[in-house]
Amino acid sequence: MTAAQRGHQVVLFERQAELGGQFNYARKIPGKEEFNETLRYYRVMLEKYAVDIRLNSKASVEELVTFDEVVLATGVQPRQLAIPGADHPSVLSYAEAIREPQRVGHKVAVIGSGGIGFDVAELLVNQVPTALDINAWCDEWGVDLEINQAGGLKAPQHPASAREVVMLQRKTSKPGKNLGKTTGWVHRASLKQHGVTMLAGCEYLQIDDQGLHIRHQDTVQVLAVDSIVVCAGQESVRDLLGPLEKAGIRVQIIGGAEEAAELDAKRAIEQGTQVAAAL
Ligand SMILES: Cc1cc2nc3c(=O)[nH]c(=O)nc-3n(C[C@H](O)[C@H](O)[C@H](O)COP(=O)(O)OP(=O)(O)OC[C@H]3O[C@@H](n4cnc5c(N)ncnc54)[C@H](O)[C@@H]3O)c2cc1C
Repeated sequence: MTAAQRGHQVVLFERQAELGGQFNYARKIPGKEEFNETLRYYRVMLEKYAVDIRLNSKASVEELVTFDEVVLATGVQPRQLAIPGADHPSVLSYAEAIREPQRVGHKVAVIGSGGIGFDVAELLVNQVPTALDINAWCDEWGVDLEINQAGGLKAPQHPASAREVVMLQRKTSKPGKNLGKTTGWVHRASLKQHGVTMLAGCEYLQIDDQGLHIRHQDTVQVLAVDSIVVCAGQESVRDLLGPLEKAGIRVQIIGGAEEAAELDAKRAIEQGTQVAAAL
């Protein structure tokens, strides 16, 4: 968008059928519906500045060598689990679980308690997301809009959880420690209200028909879950970088492709803006 605003002729290749990358997962999480607006804004601006958008189009080195400048924003892919049974049918990546939540069973283990693990748990426990319904939201959080009760507070009515979820992490630190300073407490409180349990300091041993085998506090145990959702980080996608550099093309790399730093769209957008401003 910034490059086109500055008068460059821009072609945007997207291998999927829609724009947005990981934002298309983020926007499905209860409470993150505003990302739909972010995407709408970019769609309008790209059209306004006549960016040539090529959907369903995986950019290849042969095509890219014809451009004066190439910016690689190829993002990230979910990191896979490397334990025996990681290919068991009960295992889903976070991308699969968000795309097709109906595939996730009733009892669920979420592996990885970072930002994406919290988001996935939020999606899985919410029967009816309340963020866009002010009355339902006030009931859930105990806000009395009529101010009939002291402080405008009333007894919160916690909605029933859609699933039984246990969140796991390898680190021994408090789960959710690195969530945002102003929003982390909301995520922790919401999952607690939905009865989500959290185990830190877990070693993942194997997955089979019995469930997920872990070692926790020196004890081996089996979590008899129906589904295991892997939220164990992300890896940068930069398969085009080497071949482009070899072909002598000047490449700038931004966003998740530069560093897979979990939930940081702001950094990706800032880098894109700065790179375009300097072209
Ligand atoms: C569940 C979830 C919740 C999140 N919540 C937040 C949040 O609250 N706040 C926040 O700041 N961030 C959040 N994020 C992270 C945010 O979405 C990412 O930081 C951001 O999308 C990174 O942007 P990117 O452009 O670098 O990569 P991506 O979003 O991964 O986009 C890369 C794009 O490149 C395409 N592509 C790859 N290779 C090719 C190729 N060869 N040819 C053509 N196209 C290609 C891919 O299809 C993809 O569309 C969340 C992410 C997830 C998954």
